[in-house]
Amino acid sequence: MLINKLFDTAIVGGGVAGTSLLFTLARYTDIKNIILFEKYDEVSQLNSNPKANSQTLHVGDIESNYTYEKAQTVKRSSSMVSNYIQNFNEVDKVGFKRDKMLLAVGEEEIAKLKERYVEFQTLYPYLELWDEEFLATFEPKLMEDRKEPILAMGARGQITTVDYKKLSESFVQQALDTDKNIQMRYNEEVLEIKRDEDGCFTIISDTTSFRAKSVVVNAGAYSLLFAQSMGYGKEYAILPIGGSFFFTKEKLLNSKVYTMQNPKLPFAAIHADPDITQGWNTRFGPTAFALPKLERYHELHLKDLVSALNIDKDVTKVYMNLFKDKTIRRYILKNVLEEMPLVGKEVFVHDAQKVIPSLKVKDLKFAEGYGGMRPQIIDKKKQELMLGEAKIEEDGLTFNMTPSPGATSSLAIALKDAQSICEHLNKLFYMEKHESEIQRIKSSLLNISESKSTQIAFA
Ligand SMILES: Cc1cc2nc3c(=O)[nH]c(=O)nc-3n(C[C@H](O)[C@H](O)[C@H](O)COP(=O)(O)OP(=O)(O)OC[C@H]3O[C@@H](n4cnc5c(N)ncnc54)[C@H](O)[C@@H]3O)c2cc1C
Repeated sequence: MLINKLFDTAIVGGGVAGTSLLFTLARYTDIKNIILFEKYDEVSQLNSNPKANSQTLHVGDIESNYTYEKAQTVKRSSSMVSNYIQNFNEVDKVGFKRDKMLLAVGEEEIAKLKERYVEFQTLYPYLELWDEEFLATFEPKLMEDRKEPILAMGARGQITTVDYKKLSESFVQQALDTDKNIQMRYNEEVLEIKRDEDGCFTIISDTTSFRAKSVVVNAGAYSLLFAQSMGYGKEYAILPIGGSFFFTKEKLLNSKVYTMQNPKLPFAAIHADPDITQGWNTRFGPTAFALPKLERYHELHLKDLVSALNIDKDVTKVYMNLFKDKTIRRYILKNVLEEMPLVGKEVFVHDAQKVIPSLKVKDLKFAEGYGGMRPQIIDKKKQELMLGEAKIEEDGLTFNMTPSPGATSSLAIALKDAQSICEHLNKLFYMEKHESEIQRIKSSLLNISESKSTQIAFA
């Protein structure tokens, strides 16, 4: 087989994670030769597609499943995406300014919301409390047929919604607009990555093979499979969790409406989102159910699935612990029922009525062709289901696993990876330029060494 030229960095996967790294390396480092492999014919065909995810820029202000610490991190990460959207003139093309709120229903939730409002004021001073009188005119559907008291905490005119596929396309265009040698290899599936004796890597695809001095695998659930095939990350397994959505037959809300989290449940409570692919029609979801697939709506590769599940006694213990809890058991059962053609809507409507009490089964339709797969990581050593992202890093080689809010965190993850690559290749990272265009907050807050001048040299 012909082995092509040596690249500085190879990126496997053209979702929002892979393309944000491509952009960061091309624009903010002196790395010259970068290659990106994407097995489909376009970027962001899987989880980063607007039909697969909820299109939310997670800032942490209305996500009641986040602790204060998690909200702090997410706020920092999301600001990079919103800075990009504003500084690169992508408002109303990639990111959209709308209104959003966290809705509390019933006295108990209202008390919790008020506590949260006080606690999170330092992070989000712009948040407002909206009472029933205000909501009756602002979002009338929230009040129609409402029996229990409600209160909301919200914000107006923020970037709430992002088309992460368009964001990926914008990242690629910005990278191609630099003077770097960028190769985009679409329709090219990477089959194997090998570490060579000289410390470089050979990347073998279904058509050819390339060499690179560093490799980052941003291939969703497949990242862990690549890591394990090279002997890393054996302590992890994947629990593939599908997420589906329901549309309302007409647009009922203007704002994103999140609901209060049941702290016992591992996945975020359902929310209502105005959808960019359907003229801002209201989309409810996502549901959460175990599905034996790594890609929603694509062919199942059984061998990959079996490797990802990595079932042994530690993984079984995690499953058993999940099932032991009555609330989680009921939640799992409910989510399975919601996927069933005849009863799905009947079951789902009860959750959706928390947001719009007057909603009827006939107002809902299953969002066919929408939904994605969350590759949730199981830490076998700790016998725990991890929520959020995971990374395996080994001397020039990085594997990223990015369940929600991975799209929001894409530029923050890319920054970290770009810095590690610069360190590995002894290249420059242009911190001042990155700060002014993407971070706009002091680098000390990001735990990154301060640059004395324009560039930081990793040596
Ligand atoms: C239901 C649901 C709702 C979500 N909602 C949100 C949200 O509102 N906000 C948010 O921030 N996040 C959300 N997320 C999470 C978010 O979608 C992901 O974190 C993000 O899209 C991950 O990006 P990625 O690039 O890592 O993965 P992907 O977008 O899955 O991209 C991986 C890419 O790698 C390619 N690939 C795989 N294997 C190979 C190979 N061997 N060779 C070449 N290419 C390969 C794939 O084709 C794909 O393009 C949601 C996820 C789900 C499932």
